[in-house]
Parts: sequence; C-alpha cells; structure tokens
Amino acid sequence: MEKVLQLVRRGEGENIEFKEFLTSYHLREGRFRQLACQMNHRIIMGKGKAIYVIGVSDSGQIRGIEEKKFEETLDVLKRLAEEVEAEISSVERYSVNGGVVGIVEIRKANAKEHILVGTAGHVDHGKSTLVGCLITGKPDDGDGATRIYLDVLKHEIERGLSAEINFAVFGYKNGKTLRLKNPMSKGEKALVVENADKLVSFVDTVGHEPWLRTTIRGLLGQKIDYGLLVVAADDGVMRTTKEHLGIMLAMDLPVIVAITKADMVSREGLDEVIQEVSSTLRRVGRVPMLVKTERDARMAAELMAENRLVVPVIVTSAITLQGYDILEEMFLHLPKRYTAEKDFLMYIDKIYRVTGVGTVVSGSVKSGELREGEEVYIGPFEDGEFRKVRVQSIEMHHYRIDKAKSGDIIGAALKGVRYDELRRGMVLSRNELSAVWEFEADVYVFTHPTLISTGYEPVMHVETISETVTFVDMDKEYLKSGDRGKVRMRFKYHPQYVYEGQKFIFREGRSKGMGEITKIFV
Ligand code: GDP
Ligand code: MG
Repeated sequence: MEKVLQLVRRGEGENIEFKEFLTSYHLREGRFRQLACQMNHRIIMGKGKAIYVIGVSDSGQIRGIEEKKFEETLDVLKRLAEEVEAEISSVERYSVNGGVVGIVEIRKANAKEHILVGTAGHVDHGKSTLVGCLITGKPDDGDGATRIYLDVLKHEIERGLSAEINFAVFGYKNGKTLRLKNPMSKGEKALVVENADKLVSFVDTVGHEPWLRTTIRGLLGQKIDYGLLVVAADDGVMRTTKEHLGIMLAMDLPVIVAITKADMVSREGLDEVIQEVSSTLRRVGRVPMLVKTERDARMAAELMAENRLVVPVIVTSAITLQGYDILEEMFLHLPKRYTAEKDFLMYIDKIYRVTGVGTVVSGSVKSGELREGEEVYIGPFEDGEFRKVRVQSIEMHHYRIDKAKSGDIIGAALKGVRYDELRRGMVLSRNELSAVWEFEADVYVFTHPTLISTGYEPVMHVETISETVTFVDMDKEYLKSGDRGKVRMRFKYHPQYVYEGQKFIFREGRSKGMGEITKIFV
C-alpha cells in the first residue's frame, strides 16, 4: 500500500497513469484509440514500462473499487496492451475502503514502433535535405549535397528497380538515435531496422506541378501517421504549400511544419514567415504552436497525440542543424496512430516479377495483420471477382518478417496469381469484397477554369487507385471553383474496391478538387 501512496504523491505524468476503472465502454472505437495512444505514450516515456494505478481518480483520490470492476479494468488494460504490442507484466492489489486499488505494470518486449511521416511542400523548399540530414545527422552544404541520397533513392523506387522497398528511415534505441552513415547502404539500413525499438520512415514527395500525381500517391497511397510540411524561410508560404496543407487536412493527418533555411534570412524575415505560417494554419482551423526547446517538443507530441488540431512549427536550418534536436525529440515522442482493429486490408502500390520468387506486390498495410503462409483475397479483377492467393513470404525494409501489421510498408510474394493480371489499386484483403463501379460522393472543387457539368471526366486518386471517373449525375447543373455538391460517379475503365467514408482527390488538367464517398451502388 505504501507503494500506491508514493505513486499517488508523485501524481500522473511521465509513465504513470491513474484510472479509477475501465469498462467495455472504453473499447469503443474512438475511446479505444485514445487510450491505446495514451498507453503507448506512457510506455515510451517509461522507456518500455508504464504503470497504471487503478482505483484512483485522475486527481489522485484513492477510491477503491469492487473486485468485479477491477477484473473488468484488467481485461480492458490487457486489450489495450495487446493493441500497442505490449503486455501486462505484473499486477499488485491492495484492499482499501472495502474496495480494491491496484498497480498494473505494462511492458513492451522490444517490440518496434514504426511511424510513417509524409513530407510535402513547394519544390526546393528543402524536403529531401531535411529528411537526409535527419536520417544521417549530418549538416548539408546548402548546395544540394544531402538531397542526392533521397533523390537517387526516389528514382530507384519510381523505376521499380528493386522489389525491396526503399524508404528513408532512422531509428531510436532506448531514446538514443540510430542513424545511417550511408543512406544508400541496404546492409546498414537492415541493421537499424533490426536494432531500433522505434523507427521513423519518411516518404519524400515531389512538389513540382507535373509531379503532383506522384505527390498525391505518396500522400494517399500509404498509411501515413503524420504530415511534415516544409516551408523555406526565404520564400515563405506558396500556392503549393497551401495545396499540400489542404491535401493533408483532407486526409485527416496531424501536421507538423518545419520552416527550413533559417540561416538564409534575418531575424525579422524569420518572424515574418512564422507569422505567415501561423495565419495560414489558423485560416484552416488549426492551432500553430511554435516549438523552441526539447521540452516544448515533448509537450507538442503529447498534445498532438490527443488533439490533431495542434500543429507544431519548428524553425530549422540544414546548414547549422538548428532545430534538428527538436525534430528528433518530437519524433521520439510522437506515437503511432492506432485505430480499433479491423480486418487485414492493403491497397497494392507496386507489382513486381521477381526471378525465383514469382509475383510480389508492395504497399502499406491499411488495417489488420498479415501472416506468412496465410490465404487472402486479391482483386477486383476485370470481371469484378476476387480470388484467393497464398502469401509465400513478407519482407519489410529488406528484412524478412513473419507478420505484418497496420502501417507497415511491405512486399508480399504471392502464389496463385500471375504478375500481368494485377494492377495498382487492387487490394489484398482478409475478406472477399465487392467490386464497385458506381458511387455517390460529396465533392468540393478547389479550382476549375470554367464550369463542371455532367459528363466531366477527371482522374480520381484514392489510396493507390488513380482512375478516370465520369460524373454521371449531379444535384445541381454546374459546379465551379469553391462549390460543393453531391455527384454520382462511375469508374470508366476498371472496377475498384472503395468504401463509404473514403476521401479522395480528383484532378483534370488545371482543375482540382476533393471528395468523400457517401454511398456505394452495387
Ligand atoms: P526539395 O525540392 O524540397 O526536396 O528541396 P531540396 O532538399 O532538394 O533542397 C533544395 C536546395 O536547398 C538544395 O540546394 C539544398 O542544399 C538547399 N537547402 C535545403 N535546406 C537548406 C537550409 O536549411 N539552408 C540552406 N542554406 N540551404 C538549404
Ligand atoms: Mg526533393
């Protein structure tokens, strides 16, 4: 009991959490996710160990609860621990006021936490450099020395040279960074992936207009946990910056802003950009938070985990490495974003034929788990059917794994399907699904030079799908820039797997918009 009193005196914080009790109510989706995030955060703060004090209110009042409630609380904690790949390592209980209070210890057995960060921002604002300096820990020369790594890596990915998936990655072990001396070395990367208890991967996207498609795929095709928006201090907020911010918001991503090239402007110049960034964020309903110290960074990470409206803004320079310690501290504390467990689903991004292995598909696991040897469905094929295939092996970051989980970027070797029957945008799924040709959506037009009417055919981007859709019916005669409307749409060439609630972008020439699927017609 003395131990309980000690913990109560210390109060909540770091790796200690007070809970009076938990019930099955807390297993509901939204609440569950919050609690899982919180537990994960406590575990990170406690370097692998969190302590839950049960039967004690948030404010530290010792209540004591019924034995039955205590057991139910343990059940919920167990579910939460499973969700964050941890386990209950000890339970101590004490009688008080005719009830029970307890101390529950939760541990993570060197399980890896992996967060995926999508970068965006105007071209030349320093995305590649920022990521390159983060993963190597070395400064840039201001002349593009660092970006070479990322750009070579990106071309390699785009040309599909390798079935193994290349991403920029760095890690932490016991809160200390693990870095790559040479980001191109696959061996070194495999070592970091193997040794880290937390991994941060970056999907570097290109801000160039003709490449927007790639950018969108980068942002929509993977299950990204956080968006990192880069704004160069000497250039400020550009049209692309706002557009990319819009896309991140449409995807419900929590956003971090890095102001780069602080070394290139005066103090006044810097203040101006900070103001500009802040007002841009406020205009879209987000709350900017200027992060100046490592302590602020931890707080910002905690706030973000609870409320995605908070947007940390960090001033950086790749030359002096100003702000990099803050970024590191923040990524260390930013939790994986958990969702209540759904069945396995992955949108296929790339398809390869690998000698001696067969057909390999890559993508990011959207939900659920996939195990080696398992049978899953793949489709929809042209006839709208889904077929069974066997997962021969799974690889992640050049490293063979026997189980992939939500958020992992993997390559899966499949048996039972030919390479040339597959296309990007198909899914691998635990369940047999239905192909979709037509659906209804709420759309919002960002820009269009004239008027959109029935018969309009933009390209729709959702997850890894990029497919022409026809506007077959609308609730008004025309839609112009800035308009919202309900539209019935039809995929022009292939049936796809999409579902209600999914958000998408559409684009045709210079016109752009976004939407949400509200109804599927079967
Ligand atoms: P991206 O197109 O957004 O990926 O931009 P890059 O990372 O390729 O950077 C564009 C140029 O800006 C390169 O020549 C970099 O060396 C330079 N650069 C990037 N960050 C900084 C910085 O913090 N300070 C200075 N002075 N130059 C930078
Ligand atoms: Mg770049």
